[in-house]
Parts: sequence; C-alpha cells; structure tokens
Amino acid sequence: MMTRRSLLEVATLGTTLAAAASAADLPFALPKLPYAYDALEPYIDGQTMQIHHDKHHQAYVDNLNKAVAGDPALSRLSVEELLQRLDSLPPAIRTAVRNHGGGHANHSLFWQTLAPAAKSGKPAGALATALDRAFGGQDKFEEQLRSAALGVFGSGWAWLSVDTGNKLILDTAPNQDNPLLAKRRPLLGIDVWEHAYYLKYQNRRADYLAAIVRVINWDFVSQRYEEMGGARRGN
Ligand code: MN
Repeated sequence: MMTRRSLLEVATLGTTLAAAASAADLPFALPKLPYAYDALEPYIDGQTMQIHHDKHHQAYVDNLNKAVAGDPALSRLSVEELLQRLDSLPPAIRTAVRNHGGGHANHSLFWQTLAPAAKSGKPAGALATALDRAFGGQDKFEEQLRSAALGVFGSGWAWLSVDTGNKLILDTAPNQDNPLLAKRRPLLGIDVWEHAYYLKYQNRRADYLAAIVRVINWDFVSQRYEEMGGARRGN
C-alpha cells in the first residue's frame, strides 16, 4: 500500500517526466556546454559562463520555440535554415527568428569555438594558409579581430566568415545578426554583448578581447573550415 509520502513522490516524478517530455517535443533545445563552466578560467570566469549559457542562451531557445510554435513546417527546419530563408518567413515572426534564432545559432557555435587554453591549439591546414594570405598570419588576424570587436557600438559580434566566393571575411554585426543573413557561413564569432564579459571585466572590453583570443578552439575552427571546402577551393 502506498504511503502518502510515496504518492507525493510519484506525483512529483510524474510532473517532472511530463515537463521533460514536453521540452523534448519542442523543436529547439539548449545544447550542452562541451566543457565545465570554469574550464576557460582565468580568461572567462565560470559564473559568466553559467549565466551566459544557462540563462541567456536558454532564453533565445525559449523565445525561438515560441516564435515557431504552431507551425509544423517551420518547426522541422534547422535554425540555420530559418535564418537563411528569413525573408520568406511569415512577417509576424521574422524579427523574433532574426533575434532569438540568431541568438541560438550564434551561441551554439560560440561554445564550440572556445576551449581551455591548454587545448586551444593553432590554426591548422587550409585555415592556417588562408589566414596567412588574408591577414598575414594568426597574430595579425587576432589583432584585427580584437580591433573589429572593440569597435562594435553597443551589442553585437565580430565574425570571421566565408562568403559565396569562398573568401574569408572579417566584419561585425549588430545584435544577434548571424552571417547567414548576409549569405556567409560563420566560422568564428566573438560575442561582445556586455553579458559576455561584464561580471569579470566590467567596462574593459579590450581586456576581455585580449583574454578570449587565448581560448579560441583552433582545432574546431580549422576543422569547420575544412568541412566548408576551404582546402579544396584553395582559399
Ligand atoms: Mn551572448
């Protein structure tokens, strides 16, 4: 016979399972961080990573799910596909997909392009060659990346992306605009929203930028470039 306590436990478990099931049915989900919150210390602190991932990124996911709720055709698309066809989406949800879909896509890539400093590596293969040609090498590229990111007015990102001619492009975008909106494929983005650095660096964005380039996951970015065909087309 069940006690009152165990009945309560079963009821609680039922509610938890129901919540998990309905979350699993939603089209978009928060990806797990590929390392511990504090893995990027001392460059990026654990509390910033936890709030940035668990709260800010989660909010983009939640709001993107709300935007496509009730539209099964849109719910079947990836977030990248939604951004690539933004102009053909129902006008009522375009801004939400641009902002929250952009936020979800940008942060999903961002976590993967970072790694603990001891594992951050160096640009390799075709990407190393392309960075040499386009920017004069890794150090000069990082200088230009930091300079571009420092120059973003307000909230936005600095982006290294690949254009339709397979050329490397370094530029910036406001808010959560993803390079896919400009027909470019993003390789690496640096988040310069204050939520990315304010707890540790306050107004010192330049110090944050000097730190974050120490934890770029060059193995991942180099591999991503290879998968985009950078080596084959000799960019
Ligand atoms: Mn962010």
